Amino acid sequence: MRYFSLNNNHHYVDFKEATLQGMAPDGGLYYPESIPVWNNNFIKNLKRKSKLEIGFEIMAPYVGNTIPEKELYSIVEETLDFEFPLQPISENIYSLELFHGPTLAFKDVGARFLSRCMGFFAGKLAKKIIVLVATSGDTGGAVAAAFHNIPGTEVIILYPSGKVSPVQEKQLTALGGNIHALEIEGDFDDCQKLVKMAFRDEELKKNILLTSSNSINVARWLPQQIYYALAMTQWDKGHEPVVAVPSGNFGNLCAGIVAKQSGLPIGHFIAACNANDVFTAYINTGTYHPTSAVPTLSNAMDVGNPSNFARILTMFQHDYQRIREMISSIAVSDVETLSTIKDVFETYQYVLDPHAAVAYKALQDYCFGHPGQKGFILGTAHPVKFPTVVQEAIGYSPAIPQSLGALMKKIKTACLIPPEYAIFKSTLLKILKNL
Ligand SMILES: *Cc1c(COP(=O)(O)O)cnc(C)c1O
Repeated sequence: MRYFSLNNNHHYVDFKEATLQGMAPDGGLYYPESIPVWNNNFIKNLKRKSKLEIGFEIMAPYVGNTIPEKELYSIVEETLDFEFPLQPISENIYSLELFHGPTLAFKDVGARFLSRCMGFFAGKLAKKIIVLVATSGDTGGAVAAAFHNIPGTEVIILYPSGKVSPVQEKQLTALGGNIHALEIEGDFDDCQKLVKMAFRDEELKKNILLTSSNSINVARWLPQQIYYALAMTQWDKGHEPVVAVPSGNFGNLCAGIVAKQSGLPIGHFIAACNANDVFTAYINTGTYHPTSAVPTLSNAMDVGNPSNFARILTMFQHDYQRIREMISSIAVSDVETLSTIKDVFETYQYVLDPHAAVAYKALQDYCFGHPGQKGFILGTAHPVKFPTVVQEAIGYSPAIPQSLGALMKKIKTACLIPPEYAIFKSTLLKILKNL
């Protein structure tokens, strides 16, 4: 399998190069030159296959010969090392719970696959791979947990001081080893700016192999297809489900569409958005106007210019009518998010996190307008990660799972610096020199 840049379809690389580069040199996203079609037997026998077989068969064509089969098998095994239950909530709506991984968010799947691939490639290089990541909270934790103790990699995480939750801060700062936290006296945009400047710093890149781990990386994006297939092994409602995806950068939704194009029998998709509704407006009007993000209660979806929009257009050859046939979009306000968490808890005793609540409300509205339809939402985060919102909605906050208890007792280690590039660069070089 080769990948081309969406800015220039004459620039091709293999899976290894696409993973190590993250983004093409011309700033474009990488896209597979063809979407594999799964054979009928694979789809028919899905329910009889193990998680591992499913994950391996889905990823093998994308990885091609850049990773030997045996290695890929263990990468998939480590990636899927937790449960993906499809939980009933109401009669028509289920939740695919994607939050049973180490940092209680669906990003664990993509981050773990990416980290193991990077580790494998690092083993063949003479150099260490330095992963730079700016985070507003969730991404950094998933990346830190995924790369912790992966040989040949060092991770530098930049996070805004005082602006992440206590659980998130521990996930970023308490692991030690090859995970290094920089606490920036500024906001998330300052962190992102410093990372972008580092990627443009030719002098820095001459000496170290810098890479990013954000969701545009194909090795983080493509494995997200696997859990749509795992959901279908548990779906026994007869007709094809409607799937509601709480969306921000649209990587997760895009992965679901790729799976459907490969043959997975999903009926329809709903892009569930919060007040950041540029995609909803696009589906409704056919025009796309990216803006800057506004803050909401489902903050991992606060994106005003989703980076995977270019991939969605490519998937449908820029055919707006075909996009509308497969994807609906519904925007949900903060007030509706809170009332959905409350109603679902009171009626079904199920606690939604704010992101899943956006998806639930969108799917509920869709089913109301399309009687007889059933489906599932993607439960992208454990409600315990958003205690203040859940508390406001239902008056109590679920207990911190045992798996996090040990982490909370660990000691924070972070280097506090102002948001200035020269200081950031010398701190980075000092960390790397002392390894
Ligand atoms: C990142 C994230 C999302 C958005 O996913 P995209 O792939 O960027 O659309 C939704 N929910 C949670 C909890 C997240 O962390």
